[in-house]
Amino acid sequence: MKTYQHFINGAYVDPEGGEWIDSDDPYQGKPWAKIPRGTNADVDKAVAAAKAAMTEGPFATMSATQRGKLLRNLGDLLVKHGERLAEVEVRDNGKLLAEMSGQLKYQPESWYYYAGLADKIEGSVVPVDKPDHLVFTNHEPIGVVGALTAWNSPLLFVAWKVAPAIAAGCSVVLKPSEFASASTLEFAALTAEAGFPPGVFNVVTGLGHETGAAMVDHPDIAKITFTGSDATGAQIYAAAAKRMKRVSLELGGKSPNIIFDDANIDAAVSGAVSGIFAATGQTCIAGSRLLVQNSVKDEVIEKLVAIAKSAQIGDPMKADTNIGPVTTRPQYEKILSYIEVAKSDGATLLHGGKPASGPGLTGDQFIEPTIFCDVTNDMRIAQEEVFGPVLSVIGFDQEEDAIRIGNDVIYGLAAGIWTRDIGRAVRMSRALKVGTVWINTYRAISYMVPFGGMKNSGIGRENGIEAIHEFLETKSTWINTSDDYPSNPFIMR
Ligand code: NAD
Repeated sequence: MKTYQHFINGAYVDPEGGEWIDSDDPYQGKPWAKIPRGTNADVDKAVAAAKAAMTEGPFATMSATQRGKLLRNLGDLLVKHGERLAEVEVRDNGKLLAEMSGQLKYQPESWYYYAGLADKIEGSVVPVDKPDHLVFTNHEPIGVVGALTAWNSPLLFVAWKVAPAIAAGCSVVLKPSEFASASTLEFAALTAEAGFPPGVFNVVTGLGHETGAAMVDHPDIAKITFTGSDATGAQIYAAAAKRMKRVSLELGGKSPNIIFDDANIDAAVSGAVSGIFAATGQTCIAGSRLLVQNSVKDEVIEKLVAIAKSAQIGDPMKADTNIGPVTTRPQYEKILSYIEVAKSDGATLLHGGKPASGPGLTGDQFIEPTIFCDVTNDMRIAQEEVFGPVLSVIGFDQEEDAIRIGNDVIYGLAAGIWTRDIGRAVRMSRALKVGTVWINTYRAISYMVPFGGMKNSGIGRENGIEAIHEFLETKSTWINTSDDYPSNPFIMR
């Protein structure tokens, strides 16, 4: 068993309360590491370090160009340590090594991107209508950032949140999910090696309702950036309002993946599989509702079931595995309970629908790739996020039906559209209330492209230039260029 410590003020330290939590290896089905159970005292210590970093010491006066250099150094270190960190992530969350290793190989680009952006955030001179005034705007760091992340892609979320926050000049206290904290704790050492002054990046681990809640309530944290479920997001939004904290929320989804009859059906079926069975369905952008035009429904279903049957379930570390274990025990139980709900609501089970077992399947947290048809959009299986390998196939006739059904959920994270008709593709993209639309592709993500949700899928955007503005406040400065002041000071100038 490996025992981890918090990372506060540039050093690893034991938790003030002297308590640790087990972190499980989902493939082996047993604990492999201990992570600190953070208390208010740990959060106070980390926030004090982060606040000091922003007000005194080298970071407070560092130029944006120098901040960029720190981020670039970190990118270089990630190139060196990526594979090792990917293996830690797989150990902790059971996702495929092929997936986590691919993510880690790509992550340095996020750090390089915000390294380059750090010193290109310019204010403006406003051609103001008031005579005798010069007005300029500039962008200032928002303050200490509290980051809360989910278990499915821990270091990806670190990159998405921390790179723009530090580029903006903010310091960060981050709490990873209690189910997968190890990679973030190991990553923290790289920030010191990259030259980050103490206190600029801190990691405190622990339970959501303890450590996480203490961060949301902390008076010296100015902004919360959160990735997780919409239920937790709503709690955080309400709690943050008490202190008027700024909040960005990256939440769940129930994304429609929509296949029209003129599509390249083989490509569309591949996209459907990548939308729901990749990462064992544990992705916010899961295309969990497959909307298929009725004229091609049988063909699509036949091809889908064939792929689901041949998918290799097993050890996430092995290169030929397609579907690994479910990350957490509560999540495993939740997925099985949704399968029962779908059956009792009248959906027809086409494939899967039960725990997977067999040689090499240790740990007791595997679920067969599951496909339901005859799903109507009002069923719970079509409305609620399952976060597992469970696909609902819903038939439709006309384009307007696809739009109506596609939008008829509380979420608005993403959508896929499969068609060769460019006009229809554009009409669909305009009509769907989601943050990302993929046309003839699915699950494509880049550090350059804004990502985030509409409706219950969240607030704010990560990636791209606009993400840095999530960590900046705009200030307007007025300068009177004359010596006078108006004769009547009681009216607005
Ligand atoms: P979760 O909401 O249970 O937890 C997320 C984080 O919040 C964890 O660090 C947790 O400890 C913390 N937390 C929990 N309760 C808290 C509280 N009361 N106060 C403060 N912090 C608290 O989510 P999860 O199960 O880790 O992740 C799965 C969810 O994340 C899914 O809904 C998925 O769709 C969503 N997700 C969204 C995105 C996105 O970018 N939109 C990406 C990945 C996952």
